[in-house]
Amino acid sequence: MISPFSVHMPDSVKEPLLKTLFSGYIGEGEKVKEFEKKISEKFNIRNCVALNSGTSALRLALSLIGVGPGDEVISTPYTALATNTAILEQYATPVFADIKHETVNINPEDIAHRITDKTKAIVCVHWGGYPCDMDEIHRIANAHGLPVVEDAAQSLGAKYKGRQIGTISPYTVFSFQAIKHITTGDGGFLSILDDDKYKEAERRKWYGIDRAKRKKTLSEDPCEDIKEPGFKYHMNNISATIGIEQLKYFDFLLKKRAKIAQRYREQLAEVSQIELLENNPNKTHANWMFAIHVKNRTRFLEYMRAKGIGATIHNWRNDKHSVFGGLRDDLPNLEKVNETLVNLPLHHNLSEKEVNYIIEVIKKWKK
Ligand SMILES: *Cc1c(COP(=O)(O)O)cnc(C)c1O
Repeated sequence: MISPFSVHMPDSVKEPLLKTLFSGYIGEGEKVKEFEKKISEKFNIRNCVALNSGTSALRLALSLIGVGPGDEVISTPYTALATNTAILEQYATPVFADIKHETVNINPEDIAHRITDKTKAIVCVHWGGYPCDMDEIHRIANAHGLPVVEDAAQSLGAKYKGRQIGTISPYTVFSFQAIKHITTGDGGFLSILDDDKYKEAERRKWYGIDRAKRKKTLSEDPCEDIKEPGFKYHMNNISATIGIEQLKYFDFLLKKRAKIAQRYREQLAEVSQIELLENNPNKTHANWMFAIHVKNRTRFLEYMRAKGIGATIHNWRNDKHSVFGGLRDDLPNLEKVNETLVNLPLHHNLSEKEVNYIIEVIKKWKK
């Protein structure tokens, strides 16, 4: 079976990882600082806060905005559950806007009429690594004085009109979960544009304690007065050591994915049984996923499986879960996408032969 994904773990991680493991200090320390610095340099991130997951980064961003009980957050219903459970974690309610058929991303035109007095933020997801319509989203957000949180967990390396994702909105969330472009086992980071909010994040990621102001005397409580509740969300030196090594391979991984995606695009463009998603040159794809629309999705998946190809459904509409209030009936594009979207294998370990085989099998699909 051709696997739908593949974990990237280079041999070269062994030596630095062993060193960190037996260094006598594995908590949050110099390795985390070094990783943050390297991320910042590589992706032009003004303030990088390394964390233990992308989900933590989402919740931290919402809490920095002040999202709380009774508030509403506009979000997309077609995403990893984490995007929307993070809103629930702050005792707020996700209000779902519809998505676009051609991108699977939130539809900016369906946002404004859902904004109320209770709305505190807009969350968008660059699904599969393909950037949302950021100008349109920001126009609505600015008109209503709302901050935007970009969930870029699948989009490290993506660009919007030449601007690196992570440099555009007040908060952008990234993930180093096991099957993302690069991984630290679990981990992630939050990009924050505002310097004061960054300082607050630095405290709130670790119980609200200001590390820089910790007293070093033996007889006193080392903590300054804690004024706001914090979390236990920091990254540790073990994850950071893996991340530093992973980062060296990022360009290679991104290019490899782009090359495979381009081949799929070129070869499948004329195949009438399927429909490709949008690929606008203004939006530089991070190619974390390669999805297509097909009719008779279940039969297509069975057909691909029978041919030894791990085609998958990666996300299901979130709104169907009771915890989000149950199925909505005002999301027509979501309704359709939830019946037609399929992911083809896309990862660094796919050979040219395998990619060609996948293309040939799809060309022979009869709907
Ligand atoms: C992976 C992912 C997350 C969660 O990241 P974790 O690091 O697993 O917490 C959030 N949103 C999206 C869109 C994701 O793909």
